[in-house]
Amino acid sequence: MPVKVSVKNIFKIFGMEPHRGLELLKNGRSKEDIFEETGQTVGVEDASFDVEEGQIFVVMGLSGSGKSTLVRMINGLIEPSAGQIIIDGDDVASCSPARLRDIRRNKVSMVFQHFALFPHKTVAENVAFGLKIKGMPAEERRRRAMEALAQVGLESRADSYPDELSGGMQQRVGLARGLAAEPEILLMDEPFSALDPLIRRDMQEELLELQRTLKKTIIFITHDLNEALILGNQIAIMRNGRFVQTGTAEEIVANPANDYVAAFTQDIDRSRVFTADSVAGPADAVQLSTDTA
Ligand code: ADP
Repeated sequence: MPVKVSVKNIFKIFGMEPHRGLELLKNGRSKEDIFEETGQTVGVEDASFDVEEGQIFVVMGLSGSGKSTLVRMINGLIEPSAGQIIIDGDDVASCSPARLRDIRRNKVSMVFQHFALFPHKTVAENVAFGLKIKGMPAEERRRRAMEALAQVGLESRADSYPDELSGGMQQRVGLARGLAAEPEILLMDEPFSALDPLIRRDMQEELLELQRTLKKTIIFITHDLNEALILGNQIAIMRNGRFVQTGTAEEIVANPANDYVAAFTQDIDRSRVFTADSVAGPADAVQLSTDTA
């Protein structure tokens, strides 16, 4: 499968000239030392990964580990201090402004954590909102919005207002808004974390179901290892700005790279992570690799 997103040695050092921060890191200073000396934060340190077309790449980490910083760099909302982000063959840092605009408008959509819906707009208007800036005619916007709402099972609620919908439905509207732009790449920043556990579970299953048909390339951020293992073809575990392990669910559970990852894997819900419906697949495959590890 072709690589859709390639992130190479990306760094983000807040509040200081990039070369100064990189020099400090190169000279062996830890992030803690840098914070102590300069009061500035290293948000992401030397992250690299590739995401193949049609795959879900999950970045999992606790609060403050650098997940949002990473995804915001991929979306161009913040500029990396160093490193490369290549989207569909284009280096985001060096392509022309027109090309960059094209990538942002047509290739990448972001689905946010707290739905970010406008209360005074209907569901269909919310879904169509992002299409307006593309200069799309109203009729086409409505058509795309209805199609995206059908994909998430909410066609019949097109004329409702957000506060008439449950939390799960509102998140589905958020997802439909991402899909309406017909992006090749979806960036999802903790999209389900505000939902209660049962609805969250439904949404995870719906996302997997949707993915089987739409086959988008997805970068999904979460602080929940179960969610990461259920959804991710590949999972990167982030700690304190760094990737501490990257692999499939099976690899991470069978061979945690260190005690930090191992501690997380103690609490996983195997019955959900390794079912036939999860990306990780049926449990016997894992059993096999655990036995042979
Ligand atoms: P996560 O998404 O995993 O919770 P973030 O990417 O938001 O983590 O944050 C990573 C680190 O970078 C944290 O220490 C955070 O305080 C810091 N950080 C994030 N944004 C900024 C900013 N704009 N200025 C300074 N520090 C920031």
